[in-house]
Amino acid sequence: MTRKIAVESLYNAAEAGEWIKRYDAYPKELALRVYTSRLLGSNPNLVLHGGGNTSVKLKIRNIFNEKIDVVFVKGSGLDLATIEPKGFVGLRLNALRKLMGLETLSDIEMNNQLNIQRIDARSPNPSVEALLHAFLPGKYIDHTHADSILVLTHQKNGAEIVKEALGPKIAVIPYTMSGLPLAKIVLERYEDQPDIEAIVILNHGIFTFAENAEKAYENMIKYVGRAEAYIQAQIHDKPLIEPNADRKVPLENYNSILARFNSALRGTCARVDSEGRLNRFYVETRNAPFLIEASLSQHAQAVCHTGVLTPDHVIRTKNAIVYIESVPSNDSALRQILSQTVAEFIKAYEKYFYCHVNASSTDCRMLNPHPSLFLVAGLGLIAIGSTRKEARIAADIGEHTVHAKLQAFALGDYQPISDSHVFDMEYWSLQQNKLDSNPRLALQGQIAVVTGGGGAIGFGIAEKLLSAGAVVVIADIDKLRLEKVHAVLAEKYGAGRVERIVFDVTDFRSVEMAFEEISCRLGGVDIVVPNAGIAYVARIEDMDPDKLDQVIAVNLKGTFTVIKASIPVFKRQTTGGNIVVISSKNVFDPGAAFGAYSASKAGAHQMSKIAALELAELGVRVNMINPDAVFGDENVSSRLWDLVGPDRMKSRGLDAEGLKEYYCRRSLLKVPVLAEHVGNAVVFFAGNQTPTTGATLPVDAGNPGAFPR
Ligand SMILES: [Zn+2]
Repeated sequence: MTRKIAVESLYNAAEAGEWIKRYDAYPKELALRVYTSRLLGSNPNLVLHGGGNTSVKLKIRNIFNEKIDVVFVKGSGLDLATIEPKGFVGLRLNALRKLMGLETLSDIEMNNQLNIQRIDARSPNPSVEALLHAFLPGKYIDHTHADSILVLTHQKNGAEIVKEALGPKIAVIPYTMSGLPLAKIVLERYEDQPDIEAIVILNHGIFTFAENAEKAYENMIKYVGRAEAYIQAQIHDKPLIEPNADRKVPLENYNSILARFNSALRGTCARVDSEGRLNRFYVETRNAPFLIEASLSQHAQAVCHTGVLTPDHVIRTKNAIVYIESVPSNDSALRQILSQTVAEFIKAYEKYFYCHVNASSTDCRMLNPHPSLFLVAGLGLIAIGSTRKEARIAADIGEHTVHAKLQAFALGDYQPISDSHVFDMEYWSLQQNKLDSNPRLALQGQIAVVTGGGGAIGFGIAEKLLSAGAVVVIADIDKLRLEKVHAVLAEKYGAGRVERIVFDVTDFRSVEMAFEEISCRLGGVDIVVPNAGIAYVARIEDMDPDKLDQVIAVNLKGTFTVIKASIPVFKRQTTGGNIVVISSKNVFDPGAAFGAYSASKAGAHQMSKIAALELAELGVRVNMINPDAVFGDENVSSRLWDLVGPDRMKSRGLDAEGLKEYYCRRSLLKVPVLAEHVGNAVVFFAGNQTPTTGATLPVDAGNPGAFPR
């Protein structure tokens, strides 16, 4: 097994100059601070998601035109890779340095001091390591939890190994809780040996410092590079994993096993919260070859049960990974294994919590006791999170953790961090502030699939589901239209919230494969919106039988294939769900020359009612929406109206605006019907607002002929 790890300097003087120009409204030193912070953040072997922090000390003029000393520290939890000048919090340096004289400082008071010493009340909360940045004299300070440093410090005789690997110009400090205690020890060690270039804190990470941005960054690269070189030299020919001849990777049907596993896992981990709402999770899979090999190796158990690499990770990953030794081919056996292992994890977590909360006299409530990471034999590393971002953060940290541990095992004797250090960090209020505290949206945790996602109604539905918190997969047979809609939605809601997939609803195998792919990517599905449809305008006398077949294939069979393909996923998840079929006002109020469309939609409508009867036992509700005359907008046009509009305009002697006006006037309410109105109706059903299944909701501005009956 090989995996290239390389930390190399990316500093470039010309680029640095560009950053100074880009941020010419800010002091030059801060612009350079942003530049080298981003360089650190761009290398995942140094920094992962919100990990690491940096600072710069400056003299600035206050409102009275007095020069004051200020330390600009990274805002807590912000990503170095994308940081901007406003992501740094300016703090009055001398006031913070006075805190050095205190024996102790409570969390509440430290937080208060950091808040009241801000020079701009609008800036974010500073990093939990702000005091260390203030106390240590270097103008520029860089801090990372670099993988290779942690590989060394986790050895039995970590301090000696670190010194041997990194050379004499460093200090090594035993693990100490962040905050005042760590800041004071770091300063003491620096004062003992002021010519050092770096400080390593065992089981935590490394700080480098210098009088200019380039040097502080280059010191980080130099020392992390030395750690990497040392590891390579020590384990040079030794494979990290001995191939396990008895256990073969099930490559052939990998996707179908992964899809089954992910949806069963999602179902097992879903839980009812204190407000009685069912909270579901997103699943993120990592399957680099070394992870698959590790999952099948003799190291699998040890990798899972030797804790986090640095306590900073525990709020993202918990302190253990669940190991699943095999994936049974039978769904109920799979669910049983998952329920049992998750229950055991929760029991162990509760024990850990009560043991340490009593010992520390900390007054805190237990966090979510569920696991975040699973190492699954033959499948790789699988993470869950209540947002997609959370799942991805856990997966990325987990992937680096597994790799670092394999290196640490090969190097010698891996020593986990003590549970009490992990607990102190996990339940440190300042650390918990990093977690997303936004209120939970109605459909957060849910996954929706919308067919016909490249059209106007599909766009309107996807947008409303995204606004309500769901992750949305838009599907269409038209790749270009789909890409266009995807780009608009990803720009507005974030690329992680919206996925796209091309498939043909008339081909069941293609639909089945797409649902498998969705389970691999996200974990499963909760909201299914069969919306793909085509129209064909012809009187029966003139109707082309082959064209009738096509309309039936998309509108009727296409609704059926999507419902059918979702059933095995719903069954494995066992958490119910919603199917919301986009039907048509034509089902109750057909029009001449609309035979193909109306008959196919009526068939799909009837099929949906049957689905409501059959799927109620799974907790899956099936409801229909009957829209009428939904036109697109300048972003996404309605394919239906692209197709039938010109003909309708001709027959009524109207232009495009005139036709819209005609449909508007024809309704009882005399208001236009928009795609977003259809989206609102889907969100209403998907949110289980009423115990309703088999119902039809018209979204047509009022049409007596189309009243459901
Ligand atoms: Zn740190």
